[in-house]
Amino acid sequence: VGICCPGPLDHQTGIVIDPPNLPGWRHVPLRGMLAERLGRPVCLEHDAKAAAWGEFHFGAGRGQKSMVYVVVGTGVGAAIIVDGQLYRGGNNSAGEVGHITLERDGEPCSCGRRGCVETRLSGPSLARRYSEALGRAGRDAPAGAVTGEQVTHWAAQGDPLASEILEQAGRALGMAIASLAMIMDIDFYVVGGSVAKAGDLLLEPARRAVPDHAFASVAGRVRILASGLGEDAAILGCGLLARAAL
Ligand SMILES: [Zn+2]
Repeated sequence: VGICCPGPLDHQTGIVIDPPNLPGWRHVPLRGMLAERLGRPVCLEHDAKAAAWGEFHFGAGRGQKSMVYVVVGTGVGAAIIVDGQLYRGGNNSAGEVGHITLERDGEPCSCGRRGCVETRLSGPSLARRYSEALGRAGRDAPAGAVTGEQVTHWAAQGDPLASEILEQAGRALGMAIASLAMIMDIDFYVVGGSVAKAGDLLLEPARRAVPDHAFASVAGRVRILASGLGEDAAILGCGLLARAAL
C-alpha cells in the first residue's frame, strides 16, 4: 500500500514529523501503524514527490530525463527528478522552492521569514492579496471568506483585480523556475496543485518572467506545463513507489 502525506516526513522510517497543515500530527509512525492494521507492507512518501513521480511516469513528464514538479496550493513546494531518480538532498528536504526569498523586506511568510515565493503564490496568499486589493480599490468584499480558488475563478471571468493578482503570482513562479533552471540546468517544469487549475492565467506570466531572470540560453530551453493528471498524479506515483518497494 502506498500512502502520501504533506511533509516534513521521513520516508525511510515512515514517520510523519510535523506538517504545518496537519495540526496535531507530530512524530506519527504512520507507515508502521498502517502496516500493522492492514497486515501489508506500506510505503510512505511526501505528497509532492509522489505527484512528481506520477507525472514523470504517466503524465506531463513522460519521456523526459529530468524534471521539476512544482505544487502550488495551500503551500508551495517542489520535487526534483534528475536522470530518472527522485533527488532528495542530503537530509530529504530538497525542493523547498516556496521559501526561496524573492523580496528581502516582503510580506511575512508562514515559515516565519519574509518575502518568500509562497507569499505571492499560495492559495491563501492569493486570497489575502485580493482582499487587500479590493480594500485599496474601494470595492466591497464579497460575502464570506475569499479563497485562492475563487480568485482564480474571478480572474478567468475577467475581473481586473483578480487577473493582476494571478499575473503577480505567475511572475513569482517564473522567478522561482528561472532560479531552479540556472542552478539545476533542468529544462522541464510541471506545475500542479489547486492554484495550478488556473492554467495559463498562472503559467503564461510565469513563462514571460523566466527570460528576465535567467540567461537567454537557459530561458530559451525552459518549458512550463500544467499537470496532466491533476489529483491522480500523487495516487499513481504512490502506487508505483509502493510496488517498487516490494
Ligand atoms: Zn517562507
